[in-house]
Amino acid sequence: MARLVLKFGGTSVADIDRIRNVARHVKREVDAGHQVAVVVSAMSGKTNELVGWCTQASPLHDAREYDAVVASGEQVTAGLLAITLQNMGVNARSWQGWQVPIRTDGAHGAARIQEIDGSEIVRRFGDGQVAVIAGFQGVAPDNRVATLGRGGSDTSAVAVAAALKADRCDIYTDVDGVYTTDPRIEPKARRMARVSFEEMLEMASLGAKVLQVRSVELAMVHKVRTFVRSSFEDPDAPGMGDFLNPPGTLICDEDEIVEQQVVTGIAYAKDEAQISLRRVEDRPGVAAAIFGPLADAGVNVDMIVQNVSEDGTRTDMTFTVPAGDLAKATQAIEDAKAEMRFDVVQSERGLTKVSVIGIGMRSHTGVAATAFKALAGRGINIRAITTSEIKISILIDGEYTELAVRTLHSVYGLDKA
Ligand code: ASP
Ligand code: MG
Repeated sequence: MARLVLKFGGTSVADIDRIRNVARHVKREVDAGHQVAVVVSAMSGKTNELVGWCTQASPLHDAREYDAVVASGEQVTAGLLAITLQNMGVNARSWQGWQVPIRTDGAHGAARIQEIDGSEIVRRFGDGQVAVIAGFQGVAPDNRVATLGRGGSDTSAVAVAAALKADRCDIYTDVDGVYTTDPRIEPKARRMARVSFEEMLEMASLGAKVLQVRSVELAMVHKVRTFVRSSFEDPDAPGMGDFLNPPGTLICDEDEIVEQQVVTGIAYAKDEAQISLRRVEDRPGVAAAIFGPLADAGVNVDMIVQNVSEDGTRTDMTFTVPAGDLAKATQAIEDAKAEMRFDVVQSERGLTKVSVIGIGMRSHTGVAATAFKALAGRGINIRAITTSEIKISILIDGEYTELAVRTLHSVYGLDKA
């Protein structure tokens, strides 16, 4: 017997038929003798609709009331799944965030979970009851419902799994696992059997949208073995209930990965913009003078490249922001021009950041050189490069995105089964 947390995303609970299908997945695990807590998202499209209603009611609205509105989507699915399970003869009860309770901080609309008291749920496991928990929500110190930011029910699930000391957290979604790259770009992309927390964190923050980044951070900190799998497969197909080897991708500690590849995946983020400040004064404090105002304006700065100045007086500073932040960034630069001390500002949109990820890079040399050579062979120009211990990110023109992803996927042998 094991303790499992199962999470179902919006497309998996999009209508009553799909909720029935979800209930069959839950029943399968219950029948196998496991203790089960389920975390659900709102039906797909529901949260967008609710957010839209808030904006229609008033473009600038109170975050507490936004939370009161948008948290309702998950409450509906939790209740509906509990009803469906009961109808199938499974002892189930729904839980809203405050009932568990899942305590958060006071940042309404983007709250962080601080503490979960799982004792009542565990007590009811003893009576054979399944807990169906509304994801995405908790209760803030002001005693009001708080939501965790878009995509937050992944984080709810991992946090619940950590609090309940679950053996595994299964994230059921509309894809059957995590792939070596986006299969829409490279059909030869393969589903990974296992990927380390750190690699997944990089993949998630680089646009592989399977999981909310925060949920991967949490899984890494609490070492929650997290499993990404599809809810659309027949719940009773052979192997679906296999405890040790279910179909999907396990996100786990690197110690659990026996055959470590040097490179495990290629990720990309489109719609990046590049900003260059030319002839910036080269003196202490200049980076702070530039990036302080950008941070205050809420601009998400990513790659930063500063040249070594030729004459010791002036240098160039180049950085990237999401294209959606470009207008905000340009305004912030304009407003703080006097302190930033540069000659001209240039910007460009339509860029893509392609990244090569793998913990094996820590102990292998030449990984970056291989990427540069492969891209050069395709005539793809590199605009900027940044690296971390387990990642190389390369900024290129957006029109080469597909070619670059495919080239890198193949050069590191990821095409091969
Ligand atoms: N329903 C919320 C959203 O769409 C939370 C989630 O599904 O993860 O953002
Ligand atoms: Mg999601």
